Amino acid sequence: MSDKYDVIVIGGGPGGYVAAIRAAQLGYKTACIEKRINKQGKPALGGTCLNVGCIPSKALLDSSWKYHEAEEAFADHGIKVGKLDLDVKAMQERKDKVVLQLTGGVASLFQANKVTWLQGTGQLKANKQVVFTPNEGGDEQTLEADNVILAAGSVPVEIPPAEVDQKIIVDSTGALEFDSVPKKLGVIGAGVIGLELGSVWSRLGSQVTVLEAVDTFLPAVDKQIAKESQKLFTKQGLDIKLGARVTATKKNKNSVRVTYTDKDGEHEETFDRLIVAVGRRPYTEGLLSQDAGVTLDERNFIYVDNQCRTDVPGVYAIGDLVRGPALAHKAIEEGVMVAEVIAGEHTQVNYDAVPGVIYTHPEVAWVGKTEEEVKESGEPYKVGAVPFAANGRALAAGEAAGLVKFVVDEKTDRVLGMHVLGPQASELIQQGVVAMEFGASIEDLQLMVFGHPSLSETVHEAALATDYKAIHVAQRRRKK
Ligand code: FAD
Ligand code: AMP
Repeated sequence: MSDKYDVIVIGGGPGGYVAAIRAAQLGYKTACIEKRINKQGKPALGGTCLNVGCIPSKALLDSSWKYHEAEEAFADHGIKVGKLDLDVKAMQERKDKVVLQLTGGVASLFQANKVTWLQGTGQLKANKQVVFTPNEGGDEQTLEADNVILAAGSVPVEIPPAEVDQKIIVDSTGALEFDSVPKKLGVIGAGVIGLELGSVWSRLGSQVTVLEAVDTFLPAVDKQIAKESQKLFTKQGLDIKLGARVTATKKNKNSVRVTYTDKDGEHEETFDRLIVAVGRRPYTEGLLSQDAGVTLDERNFIYVDNQCRTDVPGVYAIGDLVRGPALAHKAIEEGVMVAEVIAGEHTQVNYDAVPGVIYTHPEVAWVGKTEEEVKESGEPYKVGAVPFAANGRALAAGEAAGLVKFVVDEKTDRVLGMHVLGPQASELIQQGVVAMEFGASIEDLQLMVFGHPSLSETVHEAALATDYKAIHVAQRRRKK
């Protein structure tokens, strides 16, 4: 093995593995250093997302939704099932299989694209040198590269009052591995991860309490959507306590007593398991030697420009290590961008059109600005919001909760934001992304033909509603 590469990527998550493949496609001699050992004890690519994040959580969300449907919704459709039985072990094995298939797939893609996978830890030094320490032991090697891409991702934030032991008090990784359904489950943090994991175990029978320090539910989400989703999740059985800050925990053999404070004072509640889901932080431990020269910002993210260049020429950083939403698709597009920038291309991620999704049921998805943000800007705007209850396909499927909402610039007619709470919101939101990317006017969406019956028709109706032209809802002129 020669020790000189065109591109070395540190980290093989969605940002890193995509950057490595794209760099190899562009003709660069590329290595990706990834140290992860999976739960089967084998080296694994795919990072947080494929191993302990997006994919396993979605596998469990889908399994638990099927169980919930069998329990609650089948009878409505005239389908009778006998007594339901839950095999958590089989559910977990299925999830593990999905993960292995995908992480193995990335390894095959590396082979096909001739990306060298170095199994171990990478550390950036001065002059674009990278020290590689193999997982299996042996000597450190100093590698050189014309370009280094840092893609080491993030790890869960820990809080002193609730120290994770991965048995009683777990982080998101532990919450994906329960071997039985906790009777009483506490979740600290009503963010995306807390709500998704809380939903999984709630559907399977846990009594779930979510403790959230902030007193607004989903503060970054459009207010109308956040309010509606809070109502729906509460109806589903999630006990969401806002303004409730966890201050202490005391573990017993099989339970944990949690102390939290809210406006009424101090309270205590005992849970069988407690999930700590209070956010993630960039994972820079061991990544940078003293002389690496890379600057961190005030929140410890690696400082980069709009095209992910660090302060060191030829060194880039992407994904959860840098500013912006901690989302796999944002990491992926930054990976592609950096590889292409290295090749002298002018690729630029459109940070204004990165969709966000919460995979609850119904799902919550958004792109662009919320109504509150637009209102605050003082620019004239118009809004169209239409419920799925007016959609034939949604009713036929028994999925009529939620709405689609557009926020539109009144002067230019441009789409500024799209917000969805409803079935397949993660898929529907892409229509807003395409519209924003193409600089569409809302009239463009109004004039398009949408297949009938489809959930997308609610997107159409919401577009029409911005100009009081919706057909299937009675519209009243809205006061701003
Ligand atoms: P990571 O995926 O974290 O990968 C970084 C990799 O680098 C890791 O495998 C790590 O082992 C390796 N590494 C770190 N340091 C070194 C080193 N020094 N040497 C060698 N290797 C190193 N996002 C979505 O978009 N959609 C979702 O549905 C979604 N669901 C999620 C659910 C959960 C439970 C969690 C925890 C996260 C979820 N995310 C989701 C977020 C998503 O996982 C991250 O945004 C994404 O993984 C970031 O990609 P990345 O490449 O920056 O880093
Ligand atoms: P996110 O960063 O979207 O995953 O959300 C994490 C959430 O955890 C945020 O909304 C925080 O307000 C919340 N949080 C952080 N610390 C605490 C705490 N001690 N008690 C309750 N909630 C917390």
